[in-house]
Amino acid sequence: MDEESEHDQTRHAVVHRPIRKLGDPMLREIARPLCDLWTPKLRELVDDMLRAMLANGGVGIAAPQVGESLRLFILASRPNERYPYAPFMQPEAIFNPEIEWASEEVRKDWEGCLSVPGQRGRVTRAQRIRVRCLDPSNGESGVREYRDFVARIFQHELDHLDGILFPDRLEHGEELVSEAEYLKIRGLSAGTPL
Ligand code: ZN
Repeated sequence: MDEESEHDQTRHAVVHRPIRKLGDPMLREIARPLCDLWTPKLRELVDDMLRAMLANGGVGIAAPQVGESLRLFILASRPNERYPYAPFMQPEAIFNPEIEWASEEVRKDWEGCLSVPGQRGRVTRAQRIRVRCLDPSNGESGVREYRDFVARIFQHELDHLDGILFPDRLEHGEELVSEAEYLKIRGLSAGTPL
């Protein structure tokens, strides 16, 4: 066994849950609201989602993408190879999210998705949102505000909970491109350092 395959085995041992891909019926379900407060099973799910997201270079991941039809996602903007200009934030687990208000100001920008590998598309999203979500430590709901790229991730992940994937949001079919073409358009190379 060479070093590389040993490394691969380690990586697979850590990522327990594979990412569901476009065509998987679970990605089209309306996810059910979370009723329980923090339970060991819920903490384990959040940890699994974080691991799967980090292993795949994502900045967000929704529970249905790892096979749980629950209204839960992780918001984790940070600069990385896929999104070199993303702002840094500590990952936040978001439960039972609802958008209370969205700005009329919108922006069309590139998105990708761990469940739609190798493709990017330009999607229009609100620039600012005010949201309500559950705090599972006390069962109360709270209001938060997000803007720009973080608001974009929020809207993308919330779509996952309603069975919507970013290609459904494209205004023009030609705005869906391969990852290779996207890198050319953005002047990036696959090996671009952070
Ligand atoms: Zn996605």
